[in-house]
Amino acid sequence: MTPTSREKICDLVIRELPMALFIVDDRLRIIEFNATAEEITGWPRKEALGRPCADVLASSLCGDRCPLRESAENGRTCRERDAVIHTRPGQKKAIILSSVALVDKAGRLEYGIELFRDATAIKKLEAQKKNLISLFTHDLKVPVAIAGGFLERLLSGKAGPLNEKQTRYLESIRREIRRLEGYIRSFLEIARIESGRLELQVEPQDLGRLLREIVEGFRVQAGKKRIRLSLDLPPSLSPVAIDPLQMNRVISNLIDNAIKYSAEGTTVQVIVREEAAGPVVEIRDQGPGIAPEEQEHIFDSFYRIPENGAGHVAGTGLGLAAVKAIVEAHGGRVRLRSEPGQGSSFMVMLPRTGQGRNGPEKKEKEK
Ligand code: ADP
Repeated sequence: MTPTSREKICDLVIRELPMALFIVDDRLRIIEFNATAEEITGWPRKEALGRPCADVLASSLCGDRCPLRESAENGRTCRERDAVIHTRPGQKKAIILSSVALVDKAGRLEYGIELFRDATAIKKLEAQKKNLISLFTHDLKVPVAIAGGFLERLLSGKAGPLNEKQTRYLESIRREIRRLEGYIRSFLEIARIESGRLELQVEPQDLGRLLREIVEGFRVQAGKKRIRLSLDLPPSLSPVAIDPLQMNRVISNLIDNAIKYSAEGTTVQVIVREEAAGPVVEIRDQGPGIAPEEQEHIFDSFYRIPENGAGHVAGTGLGLAAVKAIVEAHGGRVRLRSEPGQGSSFMVMLPRTGQGRNGPEKKEKEK
């Protein structure tokens, strides 16, 4: 293929791709903008060219969550990120975006490619699905509670004596009913957090003390697998505005996973850093790691990796969905850095002050 025909083919691909695509230069200014990008954003190509991409997309990821900068930093494609953009005519639109950065030898951004598609229909379907599951789960609560009540009566002998085998069988049923009740509770709680119905009790907290208490609580569990569990705190930490109960749940879920999925004799570290945007709590393990194609899904409710090298580990697939929902309700975010065979690092990035849904800033405005 001659260089000119390759160029012609590239032009054709960019123009006709049934996906929005634009290319930016080292200053994040748009140098290519295809027809689908025009359609989704409402920006004519001519006007978009030369503008900073943050002006054109005005997306929820622009700024410190810019996936292009992230891709430049870690050398990987940021795949399938959910974002909301503001279109030229002023509408909000959900998109799913992938970004890849081309960097020079010094690691500086040379060019960036952004590919995205309209996610309005998908988001609507997802919301309907969640709503349906939530309604269904809610309806399950009552029959499960009634079955549990009768079971307790049988086990207490109130309906007549039981032999040993009958007792054993009924105890197994009780265990499973409790498990089912746990699933129902967790799922309903996630649905409540995601829909904004969970009121966070946000107040200034000593993050160091909270983490020390949580880590102490995991010593026995870690000890059973001979896992070294450490906590690294900076010399001083400013107070953070968080809901201590919910944040306890977040960190506990992450430490629990780190221990659960790691092999015996490994190390789990909880490391806290003060960054400009706020404190970051990192939970780092030496477990099986998580493949890039799984990383986008593990935060979805009920998603579990079928085979991640840790053997069979019991779980519900709801833990990380709760972690993400709670952290985002605080105005923070969760980031994962992991590679198969290299362990995993889950980072909880908290805002400096309570900028979440129920944070002090919102309360101020509501006064
Ligand atoms: P659960 O642990 O109950 O399955 P989670 O939502 O907490 O549910 O996690 C989802 C999936 O992500 C897990 O099934 C597991 O495959 C994977 N995962 C979570 N944490 C880790 C970790 N630290 N190391 C490896 N895999 C993990």
